Amino acid sequence: MSTTQPVLETAEQPEQLRTGASVRIENLSRYYGPVKAVDDLNLEIPAGTFLTLLGASGCGKSTTLALIAGLDRPNGGRIFLGDDDITDLPPNEREMAMVFQSYALYPHMSVAENIAFGLKLRRRPAAEITQRVNDVAALLDLSHLLDRRPSQLSGGQQQRVGLGRALVKQPRVFLLDEPFSNLDAALRARMRTEIKHLHLRLGTTTVFVTHDQEEAMSLSDRIAVMKDGKVIQFGTQQDIYSRPANLYVATFVGSPQMSLVRGTLVKSGDSATLHTEAFDLALGDANAIGLGSAQSGTAIVLGARAEDVRVSLGEEPSPTTGVSVCKASVILIEPMGSDTFVELRIGSQSVVARISPQADIHLGDSVWLQLTISRSHFFNGDTEERLGP
Ligand code: ADP
Ligand code: MG
Repeated sequence: MSTTQPVLETAEQPEQLRTGASVRIENLSRYYGPVKAVDDLNLEIPAGTFLTLLGASGCGKSTTLALIAGLDRPNGGRIFLGDDDITDLPPNEREMAMVFQSYALYPHMSVAENIAFGLKLRRRPAAEITQRVNDVAALLDLSHLLDRRPSQLSGGQQQRVGLGRALVKQPRVFLLDEPFSNLDAALRARMRTEIKHLHLRLGTTTVFVTHDQEEAMSLSDRIAVMKDGKVIQFGTQQDIYSRPANLYVATFVGSPQMSLVRGTLVKSGDSATLHTEAFDLALGDANAIGLGSAQSGTAIVLGARAEDVRVSLGEEPSPTTGVSVCKASVILIEPMGSDTFVELRIGSQSVVARISPQADIHLGDSVWLQLTISRSHFFNGDTEERLGP
């Protein structure tokens, strides 16, 4: 479903129909003294996209969002809504609505009054306000709570009222700053699903901020991973997960964390080996894994997701093309229900594998670790940038 029609239009006197708009950010900067909170940031958000700014605390997500909303002013750069340069427009002329982590509802107003507040400020006719509040309440499952005060609501319900206040304005862009981080895990998962349904129904361009990679992966059409005020990778969740651009993204995204094996590249003709003091891993044809132009002697890091590591007991597995085998010992077992993760020690390094919960593997077991080389990731050990495809 890809409707871009706002479903909240009213029968009587609809405000001008608004659909989601694209947002373009060019060379945006915001400095606080020596701190570059946002540092020459560029971003294109196509109309109707659900985009997530993902990054660790302090990387500049909230500042970026506040600049888009017009709540803060940049030191440099431009912001466009569709084709319009809105850099110098005040917040109320930007056709955007923002939802914060702390929902800050008006405590002395009912739910209905809280949702209606923005429309009253805009002096919309009373009948239209009632209609739009009722529509939004129905959409967010708040209809039975309209007469309550915020203090009489659960955290999840309060956050839904916060969303309602934004939705009722029929904005062209939604800005959501860690809206679920005050909620417990179960509620957070439910709100995540609700937001996704809402986006599918309304098609409003959404910029969502979170430090939670799982939240970002499950919600987004596009993810911009931020670090030090810059976007360090932009792509679909599949791009970010399967082709991380550098070691930072590789280890920030995915749970359990991607395992890293550090060593030196040794080449003999086209044949590559990852050499460490304790063991050697045969990597096969260097060209096939994008190490064709890397020099022998280069420090490299092999990255492996738990689902790409296999474990077997008993006889050494017969050689298979594209699979590298080495001896390892089990140092940790973590049952998670549907999967079990085992940490394996090879030399002084460790690798996590996903195994079946039924597997007969015990702490201290000596096992064979099998790595599918074509599914492994390679990074330059010094620059930490991705090597190869
Ligand atoms: P995030 O939302 O990703 O956690 P922020 O955008 O809030 O990050 O902050 C980015 C950087 O800018 C941080 O180093 C933060 O300390 C700094 N910063 C943010 N707001 C201010 C401010 N009002 N004054 C000084 N420094 C600030
Ligand atoms: Mg923040």
